[in-house]
Amino acid sequence: MAQERSSFGIKSKRVCLPTGIASATVVVKDGKITAIARYDQSDLGCPVIDAGDSVVMPGLVDSHVHVNEPGRTEWEGFETATKSAAAGGVTTIADMPLNSNPVTTTLEYLDEKLASARERLWVDCAFWGGVVPGNAKQLEAMIDRGVVGFKCFLIHSGIDDFPNVTESDLNEAMPILARRGVPLLVHAELESGDGGHDHHWGDDHGCYKSFLKSRPRLWENNAIELMVRLCRQYKGKVHIVHLSSSDALPLISSAKQEGLQFTVETCPHYLIFSAEEIPDADPRFKCAPPIREKENRERLWSAVKDGTVDIIVSDHSPCLPELKFLAEGDLKKAWGGISSLQFRLPAIWTEASKRGFRVEDLVTWMCLRPAEFLGLDSRKGRLAPGYDADIVIWDPERAFNIESSIIHHRHKVTPYEGRNLHGAVKTSFVRGQKVFDNGSLSERPLGELLLGKRVEIRQ
Ligand SMILES: [Zn+2]
Repeated sequence: MAQERSSFGIKSKRVCLPTGIASATVVVKDGKITAIARYDQSDLGCPVIDAGDSVVMPGLVDSHVHVNEPGRTEWEGFETATKSAAAGGVTTIADMPLNSNPVTTTLEYLDEKLASARERLWVDCAFWGGVVPGNAKQLEAMIDRGVVGFKCFLIHSGIDDFPNVTESDLNEAMPILARRGVPLLVHAELESGDGGHDHHWGDDHGCYKSFLKSRPRLWENNAIELMVRLCRQYKGKVHIVHLSSSDALPLISSAKQEGLQFTVETCPHYLIFSAEEIPDADPRFKCAPPIREKENRERLWSAVKDGTVDIIVSDHSPCLPELKFLAEGDLKKAWGGISSLQFRLPAIWTEASKRGFRVEDLVTWMCLRPAEFLGLDSRKGRLAPGYDADIVIWDPERAFNIESSIIHHRHKVTPYEGRNLHGAVKTSFVRGQKVFDNGSLSERPLGELLLGKRVEIRQ
């Protein structure tokens, strides 16, 4: 695939500019957007790609991806994850500190992570560190090396080498993160008061209702209540990952109104599927917290609309197919995690367009705000002069079937398989370099490590 390294333009009748959709030409030079020219401007002095009436949009930013390399590369890996990102119009991802091995909880382990990512990136990649019991002394050094923030769990994470924290661990970590201005990402489920995990399972381990009951909304609500309190106490940035329980929305909304730096994400699976429609014994739909009822889904959409939910990210969390126990249909034993990195754009567009949302809304949820969340908003997430030329060209009206032959994830297991979605990605550019075009990927890895430089000190 030819690489446009130097100067070129992309013109279309539908370019997503910060001011709205317009006919325009995006002018790119040396990886940056240098100008937004008229659609019919002829004196640019560089070749112009005519995208017709395809949408030309900022590349998507996905701040919640489990790449699992090093150590669990058989689950996913930087090459396969970033190729599937490129094929899905995602030009920036941020890697979670688990389920790699080692997990990213010390400076040494972070360096192993960075070494494993080099030369294997088809899109740009930022990195989260992890807060676990006893690693508070590691956090500053990891920030200095460039992590964009930290993730923690309030419940067992699914792997033993990333233990969950308690409030006293957070009392150590949160002042450091607040002082350095980096967010704390929280898996918000707090086992409380109803007998725990195993209480609700009968003999039928395929029963989706049992699984749903085993991780109740109450756990999420209690965890979020705790985090609002700690956010108020330490005045740092707190971010709730993969919100499922809509019962917690009033709490989140009042934290925002109070002026706390409290942000929230949800994921396509919570906005598209519903517990009533999920067949029993199909662990492809298992994730934690679980996908809840239709009524819950509708309330999540309202929260996306009114901004209580800030961003939509994939939480791409694959595993070996055998760990999904698909043949047995065992929801209790199966790994909880859904693969969707490649399909966030069409999945959300298909559902959002039915609900009257516009392409511009997608830019807000999946480009602009995630870039801001990662501290990358001065260079990513919008088509404007001075920004990285991270661009996706796609057709909102074109429908396609998700078949395993088009899936670039290492493993093809996903609840989206077989679905017909609208919104086909044609071309993705990362800093002006074509990484995906009409079904084929660039031969070379052209992505970069994005190491944050957040050194702001309060007071
Ligand atoms: Zn996750």
